[in-house]
Amino acid sequence: MSMADRYDVSLNTPAGQVTTVIDVPSGFVPITAILPAMRKLGEQALAQEERRVTGAGLTISCRKGCAACCRMLVPVSAPEAFALHDMVHALPAERRNALMARVAQARAKLEQAGLWSRLTALAETDRPLTDEDFEPVNRDYYALRLPCPFLEDELCTIYEDRPAACRELLVTTPAELCDDLAHNPVKPIPVSVRVSTVLGFLWAELTGGAARLIPLPLALDWAARHHADNRRTWQGAELLDKALDKVWRFLNQEFQHRQQAGER
Ligand code: SF4
Repeated sequence: MSMADRYDVSLNTPAGQVTTVIDVPSGFVPITAILPAMRKLGEQALAQEERRVTGAGLTISCRKGCAACCRMLVPVSAPEAFALHDMVHALPAERRNALMARVAQARAKLEQAGLWSRLTALAETDRPLTDEDFEPVNRDYYALRLPCPFLEDELCTIYEDRPAACRELLVTTPAELCDDLAHNPVKPIPVSVRVSTVLGFLWAELTGGAARLIPLPLALDWAARHHADNRRTWQGAELLDKALDKVWRFLNQEFQHRQQAGER
């Protein structure tokens, strides 16, 4: 059994203080080892945000079996792509094959629609991407209403391992409005710690590359092509230190955004 060190982490978020205990493996570990700790932090920060929103009299509409948002383009960080790849390859052959068949089907549809190469260009670029880079691709992708390859009978088959972006989308508007997320006035709750962005910046710092986000339908393919990068290891404590630095930066920006939005 691998050893872990325990840390008390306290974050000052726009929705209030978040204090939690996280375990990080000691010794040299791959980047994927920091994922559970970051997910836990993100979940606690989101729970704090949910308490703030529900305290203000709003209700979260998201329920199990509602997968309207699983037709949107989900961005994942490189560490999440590696973790997904490892998870899928550890599945029993039958489940893995069924999943890979759905991934191949999604790829065929995306190629047919001329989107695969645009998504690949986003996943592979070395320049920093902005929301404006993703916007037209997001729009064209959502127009296809292509179910996520991990969705089966409107349920997520990788629920425990789903990407951070999937965990972070919670809405307070009626669920019916999610039928057309592009045109209806859907209101998501604000996210104080966006874990995929944090992990993207962490990966960029560790490898000297761009803070990339990879579209989910390409994640397995991307991770397979870059798997040599996933053999590198770092001290668990170093990963945590650097990751928390990115969390604080994200939170600072978030405070500024909300302050500016409040002033407008
Ligand atoms: S990974 Fe799961 S939750 Fe995320 S879009 Fe796919 S099916 Fe939906």
